[in-house]
Amino acid sequence: MKTFPMFLQMRGRRVVIAGGGEQAAQKCRLILKTDAAITVLAPTLDAELADLHAQGRIGWQTGPITPASFAGTALVFVATGCPGLDASLHMLAKAAGATVNVVDQPDLCDAITPSIVDRSPVVVAIGTEGTAPVLARQIKTQLEQMLEPRLGDLAALAGRLRDLAASRLQPRMRRDLWRWVFSGPARDAHATGAERDAAKLIKSAIETGAFGADQTGSVALVGAGPGAKDLITLRGVQRLQEADVIYYDRLVDPEILDLARRDADRVYVGKAPGCHHWPQDKITNVLVSAARQGKRVVRLKCGDPGVFARGGEEMEALRAADIPYEIVPGVTAASAATAAMGGVLTERGVCDKLVLSTGQTQDDRATDWGALLQPGTRVAIYMGVGSTPQIAQALQATGFANDIQIDIVSNAQKPDQIIAHCTPATMAQTIAEQHISNPAILFLTRPYPAVQTISVAV
Ligand code: SAH
Repeated sequence: MKTFPMFLQMRGRRVVIAGGGEQAAQKCRLILKTDAAITVLAPTLDAELADLHAQGRIGWQTGPITPASFAGTALVFVATGCPGLDASLHMLAKAAGATVNVVDQPDLCDAITPSIVDRSPVVVAIGTEGTAPVLARQIKTQLEQMLEPRLGDLAALAGRLRDLAASRLQPRMRRDLWRWVFSGPARDAHATGAERDAAKLIKSAIETGAFGADQTGSVALVGAGPGAKDLITLRGVQRLQEADVIYYDRLVDPEILDLARRDADRVYVGKAPGCHHWPQDKITNVLVSAARQGKRVVRLKCGDPGVFARGGEEMEALRAADIPYEIVPGVTAASAATAAMGGVLTERGVCDKLVLSTGQTQDDRATDWGALLQPGTRVAIYMGVGSTPQIAQALQATGFANDIQIDIVSNAQKPDQIIAHCTPATMAQTIAEQHISNPAILFLTRPYPAVQTISVAV
């Protein structure tokens, strides 16, 4: 290690930033998160810094800069945007014995600003000693996903309860308590916004000393989104990282499973070509029995677990077995496919009714497309590719086939995504020519008729 990471005490300390433009403003934003008093040295300030000064959040000195300007500081940032001026200011700051960071001049830096994941009071600093800032940002993104936004508040709550725990529990018990707090139901409750419940759970665990024992399992039905790894929610990632076992479907991208804990069991319950399909009741049975063994179970489904995903049956079974469950929503294929086309799902003046439908209904109940497709309606058809001949035929028979626009997106948000546009008359040909196969979403849109405008010559 050429550099050594430390957390500097900032309360009651002074930070000087030399420069009045964007670079200085960037450093200001960073230091404003701390308790330090900031002084900016610059003849003029940009609009943002001027505003901060007007609000009394930073000090501003315009006079000549000497070593005395940098005396007694915790840190100095030199950020004028002019390399020559920066180098002279660096010399003055060094003459005052300050710890200096000169923007974009690593050779002149005593201290390098890390990439920061801020869940204050939990703070993660990532540094690569200037070798790979892009890697630092990637690591930051991964940590941002791992650490739920409210984690800092939970740590602060734990901090407030430390004395109580110390007065009631022996050191070993205390360690077990905090392990339980940060990986058990208190953290789950807190992460979903139920702060009071979390505080109650922790306090009662401290008072009774009962935690960790006879933990019941739970099941989270998690939406993995349409495929791309970064389209799962932060809460979904959190559940994956807590899971002891993950039961996942065919359309779940393997990259998403990489987000889970390495030692979590991963069980594929989908249908692969040539393999047997797991019947739904077998899936519900394994979910219930894993949770009864005290495991944290994730049932990972593509898209949203509440859209054509048989989440309802799994939920019923869990309810009947009295197993706590949670639904973590995901980006459903209709949203993902529309976004992939650079469009929107509902459009003012075009369609204000959105129907999610499927090409494969139970018992082959036929859809009355003519009745469904009233003007101003868009229907997103899931699992529809196999039924396109029947759908096209039914649309042709509606009497308004010429008003229907069809958009098809297969493998939305994946590298092999295909987007196609057609009409009921050209649908079969388009699907064949463009080699469209499942998974694909078909959008049928019957817009409102365009408003006729009549211009009158006066
Ligand atoms: N729960 C899922 C839907 C599961 S049903 C969701 O909310 O998206 C499976 C169907 O979803 C597929 O047949 C296809 O119609 C659609 N689908 C899933 N992933 C898709 C993707 N990446 N692109 C297009 N359609 C997709």
